[in-house]
Amino acid sequence: MNFLSPQSILPNLPNFRYQQIINWIWCGLLTDWSGAKNLPQDLRAQLSQILPLTINAKVLTSADKKTAKALITLGDGSAIETVLMKHSDGRRTACLSSQVGCPMGCVFCSTGTMGLKRNLTAEEILLQALLWQRELAKVGEKLSNAVFMGMGEPLLNYAAVMEAIKILHEPKIFNIGSHHISISTCGILPAMKKLGQERIKVNLALSLHAPDDKLRTQLMPVNKTYRLKPVLAEALKYYKLTGRQVMLEYVLIKNVNDAPEQAHHLADLIKDLDQTAFIVNLIPYNDTKIFKSSTGEAIKKFKEIVSRAGIKTVQRYRFGANIKAACGQLASRKS
Ligand code: SAH
Ligand code: SF4
Repeated sequence: MNFLSPQSILPNLPNFRYQQIINWIWCGLLTDWSGAKNLPQDLRAQLSQILPLTINAKVLTSADKKTAKALITLGDGSAIETVLMKHSDGRRTACLSSQVGCPMGCVFCSTGTMGLKRNLTAEEILLQALLWQRELAKVGEKLSNAVFMGMGEPLLNYAAVMEAIKILHEPKIFNIGSHHISISTCGILPAMKKLGQERIKVNLALSLHAPDDKLRTQLMPVNKTYRLKPVLAEALKYYKLTGRQVMLEYVLIKNVNDAPEQAHHLADLIKDLDQTAFIVNLIPYNDTKIFKSSTGEAIKKFKEIVSRAGIKTVQRYRFGANIKAACGQLASRKS
């Protein structure tokens, strides 16, 4: 696929032709070349042969129509998943995968159990957004937000993710504001540092999931390398550098990390740093074979404790559970 660089398969055209081709792909949202009226007939025929516009995807929509999930099969047969969330306030958010699988092995995450197959290219990341842009165009809508919360650890595929972000942000292409782009990481500290230096300042989300090193290491092997306190300190630096509050993601897993004392512990950890720098995002766990979601009561209690400590606390809406499109359920099942 050469949606970003038609030059590589079609050399010797004048520059303006490449511009037209790229425009048709990313802005015209064509699904076949016959609609590219400003291109000569023979070029359209040639493009149909060497640069087909089809995206090999199977789309599933949830019963409430608020969520859609697509399984995309890539050129090498690898399968990735991407999700579209339609929020009631009008936001249209694409949840993008950055890798095929993930090497980080978090024990509660379906993607983590797959291991890493490979990194995605920038084009493969953008293909997911393009698919949703095409779907939305059918009803006169556009993507407004993008989050790197699909399969994979985005900060381990740094260059491709940043290249994709440039195009998501580009006014003439996706035109998504940097405030509307978020990267979620399990805490790859050196890459978090680098992200703070980027020209395009995106929102950072840090998957915390435990208030102490012992439990975090059990759940997330990355914690052996990048411990809780240094990672939180780096997140604080990100806030100071960018002015963006960092979202601390905390999935609530029954009898694992949802006890009241753990909520107090989490609040203390944040208060020791700077409570204005963070927003705690409590995520009801989507059940897997090993772990179960906390009860509604436990979630409510946990939230009360953290917010009473003066920390902004939000609870994530549960999108797409009935089509297995929710966080951590993206494991490219063929069903
Ligand atoms: N690798 C990155 C981004 C992808 S995961 C990261 O870990 O941050 C996106 C979010 O979904 C993470 O916070 C992850 O911990 C969470 N998650 C994983 N499995 C989940 C599950 N079964 N239910 C709810 N959230 C889950
Ligand atoms: Fe990878 Fe994120 Fe899942 Fe951990 S939670 S295994 S880092 S995708």
